[in-house]
Amino acid sequence: MQDITNESGKLSINLKALADNYRTFQSITPNHCDVAGVIKANAYGLGATEVFKTLKALNCPQFFVATLDEALTLRKNDSDTPIAVLGGLFNGAEDAYMQSNIVPVLNSPFEIEKWAEMAKRSDKKLPTIIHFDTAMNRLGLSTEETHALLDDVSALDGLDVQLIMSHFACADEKDHELTEEQANRFAKIAKHFPHAKKSLANSPGLFSSDTYHYDLVRPGYALYGGNPTPHANNPMKTVVSLKVRILQIREAKKGDSIGYAASHTFEKDTRTATVALGYADGFLRSLSGKAKLYYDGTPCEVLGRVSMDLTSINIDHIPHAKPGDWVEILGDNQNVDELADTCGTIGYEILTNLGQRYKRQYIDI
Ligand SMILES: *Cc1c(COP(=O)(O)O)cnc(C)c1O
Repeated sequence: MQDITNESGKLSINLKALADNYRTFQSITPNHCDVAGVIKANAYGLGATEVFKTLKALNCPQFFVATLDEALTLRKNDSDTPIAVLGGLFNGAEDAYMQSNIVPVLNSPFEIEKWAEMAKRSDKKLPTIIHFDTAMNRLGLSTEETHALLDDVSALDGLDVQLIMSHFACADEKDHELTEEQANRFAKIAKHFPHAKKSLANSPGLFSSDTYHYDLVRPGYALYGGNPTPHANNPMKTVVSLKVRILQIREAKKGDSIGYAASHTFEKDTRTATVALGYADGFLRSLSGKAKLYYDGTPCEVLGRVSMDLTSINIDHIPHAKPGDWVEILGDNQNVDELADTCGTIGYEILTNLGQRYKRQYIDI
């Protein structure tokens, strides 16, 4: 790929790898099971428009976003691909959903009521997705609300319940007992909806048991190359790589300090590089003094505090490094899970924060 010489950073998104990851989900789920694309939060920071386009080309039958705004952005160039909004329905937003052919995931009896009223008003059987909470206590019908609905399904009159779903709390922890418990709770609810499709699994859920696949799986993180199998090798292809340039090389003297708060003091003369990377780029400040960047595959430790636009690294062992050279943050040498581990967060947080400032370069399918 062509180097854009005046750029300080390169965030590359490999849509080929993303497409391969999508095909991997298809290959490990049964034929009747569809694979949705979860593209909330601008497709975990990678660019919802491009990811949407890529997955549509692979006939992805269903997309999920978090907010109506995110859905409307996608609707600008697409009038009919199924898009559902996980955040649900605000009172009064029914018309906006209907007009734009977007489906709210109904998370409460109130939302069901509002959507059913809309169906009545418009004299249409409205496509409907219902979220049942099986342990998260975040969104979805509670146990009591679920029982009430199952006892009296008249609340669903006028609605075409196409999909019911629930969401795992602990699928990213190996054999966590709550996962099985949630699956049991969901299976009981599912019996009451013989004609609706069912969906339970996120990325880690998809890889933990075939019995969680049902009719539709909802991977997000793994699509973008994150590891859905904790404690095992990552079966996904790397999608994101990030490189930034060295701005300056410096020779710090023994006893000097570096960066804000002078948090690192040199025990010997040390060659350092200042690179065009900071917390404003999503390189979290909690990575200060902990993370490593890679010069041509060689690890270089971060020295002192990460600041807004700049980070310093030790390049004492790389005498030929010079301003303008590239160092890698994410890519072949370090994946998003490894980087997240160094500062006690998860790759999801790293991805969604990445590179507001860098131009995204897409490697097309
Ligand atoms: C974000 C989200 C997903 C995707 O989860 P990953 O762990 O990224 O695969 C699936 N379902 C719901 C309800 C979500 O909010």
